[in-house]
Amino acid sequence: MTTTHSDDDSLGFGTRTVHAGWEPDPLTGAVMPPVYLTSTYVQDAPAEPRNGYEYSRTQNPTRFALERALAELEGGARGFAFASGMAAIHTLLLTLERDDLVVAGDDLYGGTHRLFGRIEARLGLRFHYVDTTDPAVLADLPADTRLLYLETPTNPLLKVTPLAAAIEGARRVGAEVAVDNTFASPALQNPIALGADVVVHSTTKYVAGHSDVVGGALVVADAERAEAVAFHQNSAGAVAAPFDSFLTLRGLRTLEVRMQRHCENARRLARFLEAHPKVESVIYPGLASHPQHEVAAAQMRDFGGMLCFEVVGGEAAARRVVAALRVFQLAESLGGVESLVELPGPMTHASVPPERRRELGIGDGLVRLSVGIEDGADLEADLARALRTA
Ligand SMILES: *Cc1c(COP(=O)(O)O)cnc(C)c1O
Repeated sequence: MTTTHSDDDSLGFGTRTVHAGWEPDPLTGAVMPPVYLTSTYVQDAPAEPRNGYEYSRTQNPTRFALERALAELEGGARGFAFASGMAAIHTLLLTLERDDLVVAGDDLYGGTHRLFGRIEARLGLRFHYVDTTDPAVLADLPADTRLLYLETPTNPLLKVTPLAAAIEGARRVGAEVAVDNTFASPALQNPIALGADVVVHSTTKYVAGHSDVVGGALVVADAERAEAVAFHQNSAGAVAAPFDSFLTLRGLRTLEVRMQRHCENARRLARFLEAHPKVESVIYPGLASHPQHEVAAAQMRDFGGMLCFEVVGGEAAARRVVAALRVFQLAESLGGVESLVELPGPMTHASVPPERRRELGIGDGLVRLSVGIEDGADLEADLARALRTA
């Protein structure tokens, strides 16, 4: 029987992605894990479970396959799958102590900002927001920082944090580092390889990739932290369901080819939009005009499928463009095979106060694209036609 060692570093990322987390089932040879729809497992004698399986919140073979796959692809000691990205982040913070200081990036996913500010702060954690793209800030973190929490690239402004500098700055004050790797996915960036302690994913996005499941994950670098996360995952209980785990693993198998097409299409559209007279500005880490283009080029294998642009004529013009698009569908979320468009101001980032949005640079005419894997020519033609109405 052949076995594939998906954690074998000599194999390419695409090969490891296809095989990660699962060896063909010894009984049947099944190449994908069965969906173990069971809540409990028969024991041979009291407190003598078979192969350790007692109860599905604690152990489920389908979820374990996904968790192993994510750990292998991010290069961590262990992975954990949750019911959503928010559940993953909440569980990570449960491993901290009351009064611990979390230093977080100032441009975070809106739901993460809400979780920190309205729930975790009430439960006793302290938060301090900084511009993690600034090396001077990273070199001078507060001495009592327990956790540095950041996203790169960020949503929606695609700001890029220099990960090596962030990790070095955190080490200097004895802090741990967690990186939300949702926008890059393990195909483009592996923070643990650069020294991060924890990687966070909303697997809802690129990892699952088909807009058919909500999920989240944590991958931890070392076994000690794995113990703490395992305890809190089981005790708080926001685990990924078996069928959701299956869908996420099924989506993950094609991550590398999807990501190649997402990047190729986004690069094409970024260049097209940058040259368009009705476009004020384009934000894409792959453009030389992006303020952290060099940093992105150094730490990412490609620049991702997300881009933003501002239409000449502000919000009214942006609304006309969005209404005229046909291939791009108006919806929140991202990372699926289909192209989506949204206006962060009135939609995903509506919970950010308007003056704060302006400070951050989220203008009312900002349009965010999640560039899908359709034919690039069709996407470009769709934008060209819609921009004629602006
Ligand atoms: C969507 C998202 C989350 C939240 O994940 P859910 O699966 O929606 O709970 C967290 N971080 C980032 C960067 C996201 O895009």
